Formats: sequence, C-alpha cells, structure tokens
Amino acid sequence: MIASWLGGLRGALLETAYPSTCLLCAAPGHAGLDLCAACRAELPVFDHACTRCGLPLEYPAPFCGHCLRRPPPFDAAWSALLYAPPVDDLIADFKFRARLPQGRLLARLMADALASRVHPPDCVIPVPLHPRRLRERGFNQALELVRPLARTLACPITHGAVARIRATPPQQSLAATARHGNLRGAFRVAPGFEAGHVALVDDVMTTGSTLREIASALKAHGVGRVDVWVLARAA
Ligand SMILES: [Zn+2]
Ligand SMILES: [Zn+2]
Repeated sequence: MIASWLGGLRGALLETAYPSTCLLCAAPGHAGLDLCAACRAELPVFDHACTRCGLPLEYPAPFCGHCLRRPPPFDAAWSALLYAPPVDDLIADFKFRARLPQGRLLARLMADALASRVHPPDCVIPVPLHPRRLRERGFNQALELVRPLARTLACPITHGAVARIRATPPQQSLAATARHGNLRGAFRVAPGFEAGHVALVDDVMTTGSTLREIASALKAHGVGRVDVWVLARAA
C-alpha cells in the first residue's frame, strides 16, 4: 500500500514543471526538457533495428539472424535509445538513486521517440517488480517511464495483469545462459486478464529474457499480440 502510494507520488513529481536545465552539462534546457539541444543531438540512437526483437542493425533488414532462426515469443519490439553513455548513467541515477529529474527526462524522451512508431495496444503492462523490491525502491521504473507515452497514445496502463511471484537475482548479475533459467515460473498472469494486444514495457532490454518469459506467459494465457517497448536497448 505504502509502496503504491509512493509510486503514485513519484509519478506526480516526475511531471511537475520547473525551469529546465541540462542534466548532462548544466546549460539551459531545450524544448521544455532537462537537456540542451547539443546534448540531445549526441544521445546514442540507431537508424536500423530488427523489427521483431529491436536489436540495432548496421544495415536496414527486417530481421536479425537470431530472429530468423528462433523468433522470440513477442511480436515486435521498439526502443527509444541505445543503452550506452550517457543514457546508462541517467537510468542508474533514476532507478537506483531515485533522481526524479532524470526519470522525468527519460520518460519524455521515450514518449517523443516512440509515440509515432508504435501501434497503440489495448493496454500497457509495465514489467512488474517483486513486491519486496518494489518496497525497497519505492517505485517501479518501467511504470514511471511509460506514463507520458501511454497518455499520448491514450492507452490505459494495466496494473496487476502480470505478477512476479518469485524473487529472482538481478538479471544483470547473471551470465546470459543463466538468465532464462533464473526466471522460469517467476511470473503469473492474473486469471481474469483479457486483452487482444498488449505492450510490455521495461527500462532496459539486454538479452530480453525477462520480456520473453512474460510474453510467453501472456501468449499462453490467450493474448494475441505482445509488443515490447523499452527505453534503451543494449546492442
Ligand atoms: Zn547539455
Ligand atoms: Zn531480432
């Protein structure tokens, strides 16, 4: 209860207006963001990506080699930025040090980058944290990051559709091969949940094992289409 109240409070704080200052170089902000035009132009982005898993590609192609051989359980993936400096530090400041201006900036960048590219789903599902981690952190970063994008697209954010029923070691602490096994049975779809098309949201996609595991559970539950939206994609 307290965690969800804090989550709501932080959500409101992320959207509070105040004079903008670049969080990277302290110059005046541009276009209402806490980021100057020069720093924005330097943000790591990529021109081409696999339409299925969002992996950055050097050349335009519909799919990456992995997806040609073994496509993931989700149908399409989009990311706003590449997970590289200074995006990684901005995310860490928000997620682990609860810096609200960084969260507000990242949420706006996510909305700006994805609003015109994604297909509006029936509902948006932030990747859930285990209740214990939510209590420790006080907020779910995926939920806070997707609020402006969901509002722009007029898509409801669904709480409680997917629950993390088992606490697992942080994925980043495990080798890629251990990541999938770590998550088996970690998520459960709420029995009454129904939707034809959902967007699953996370802050960072590295191997994508968490998103694959949840997408599999949603598909097994009868959801027809699962898209993935992330703020940043590791190459
Ligand atoms: Zn700057
Ligand atoms: Zn792919």
